[in-house]
Amino acid sequence: MSHNLRSGLWDTSPLYQNAVLDLDMAGKKMGLDSNVLERLRMPKKAMCVSIPVRMDDGSVKTFEGYRVQHSTTLGPGKGGIRFHPEVNLSEVSALAMLMTMKCSLVGLPLGGAKGGIRVDPAQLSRAEHQALTRRFTMEIISMIGPEQDIPAPDIGTDAQHMAWMMDTYSMAKGHAVPGVVTGKPVEIGGSLGRPESTGRGVVYVIEHAIELLNKKGHKYVLKNMTAAVNGFGKVGAVAALELFNRGCKVVAVSDFFGGLYDKNGLNVPEVIEYMNQNRTLKGYEKAQVITNEDLFALPIDILIPAAIDGVITNANMKNVKAKIISEGANGPITSEAQTYLEQNGCYIIPDILANAGGVIVSYFEWVQGLQQFFWNENEVNAKLAEIMLNAFNRVAANAERYNCGMKSAALITSVERLSKAMLLRGLFP
Ligand code: NAD
Repeated sequence: MSHNLRSGLWDTSPLYQNAVLDLDMAGKKMGLDSNVLERLRMPKKAMCVSIPVRMDDGSVKTFEGYRVQHSTTLGPGKGGIRFHPEVNLSEVSALAMLMTMKCSLVGLPLGGAKGGIRVDPAQLSRAEHQALTRRFTMEIISMIGPEQDIPAPDIGTDAQHMAWMMDTYSMAKGHAVPGVVTGKPVEIGGSLGRPESTGRGVVYVIEHAIELLNKKGHKYVLKNMTAAVNGFGKVGAVAALELFNRGCKVVAVSDFFGGLYDKNGLNVPEVIEYMNQNRTLKGYEKAQVITNEDLFALPIDILIPAAIDGVITNANMKNVKAKIISEGANGPITSEAQTYLEQNGCYIIPDILANAGGVIVSYFEWVQGLQQFFWNENEVNAKLAEIMLNAFNRVAANAERYNCGMKSAALITSVERLSKAMLLRGLFP
């Protein structure tokens, strides 16, 4: 008697379905061992927890939390903790898979993991944030550790959350364990350059793409180009500033509440200052108000989706006019939209390459913490730039070799390394 071996537990979200679709496509192109592909389609381990929190008004609210390890073949699990109202097991599993691919692609000795709590972070006070983070850390403590699985910030969390996680873990162990998280404040073992690393990397690869496209006959000059950035958080705001500092005209930026547009270019440092003071772009008066959908449809050269997954789909892909897209967010473009855009000449630098700067400097932070020897910011940035360039070149070479877009090429490059490691280690028992 045959029966379906899958319960459908992991693959309920579009993000997971897309990730598997992309993986299958890349696997087919490279002739990947079917046993390896089968293993990579599913995460290694997941933990679902409920997290009771005493709220400021005295009531107790219970939140859902997850930690998922997709693969630990190359090293400890690595991946952020997301606080967002849409978080679920399938989405976290997909993001863990992307982390595996990202770490393998850029050559780190790390696996892939992700965590999250289904909560609207904007509704919580600082005390509630702290209680939620500490209790979550305690609930998943058997899964994390410097040699096991190392969380970092993601949407809705920052260096302060990492400090609370590090402190909670250290309290339980009886001594300070800085290596349990990355993205910590510098005062407790964080790395210089970590907060800016993802946004910087997103822009480094745009520069590499321009150089490559110019060799193929284009005549792009970054300071004559226009850009728009969707999502103005830790990744988007830095990417916008890096573009602005290079003379590129950033005509639009947006956050959860909507966007701002100025055809002559926004004063990005001023917008960041407004954002830092008000925690939103809403209310900024020196630019025209637009929607996120308006932003995607602008006649610009460069688009950076740096908010959340699934923002460019078959519903709006035909509106997108950008010539280069650097994926700051994880999974912002669905497989269908990606194929359409690439067929129409858009050069897409995929998430696992474009936003790898964060995990690269997280790796530097982990190494610095283990050695208790800290580097200056120039050293961090130089090493980051070198790894990003190397990864970009390897992906571009595979795009030529397999005659495919950068997304498939990035996955192929990643899986080439990972599958060798999997086959060498063999299957237990
Ligand atoms: P963040 O919380 O600092 O910022 C998120 C931004 O997106 C905010 O401006 C928020 O208002 C906006 N946003 C949220 N939902 C939106 C929506 N539906 N429409 C428009 N805007 C929306 O998060 P972040 O750390 O900047 O992460 C952004 C993306 O980058 C995520 O996909 C994350 O997984 C990815 N990423 C982050 C890092 C990192 O180092 N922080 C590294 C790699 C990838």
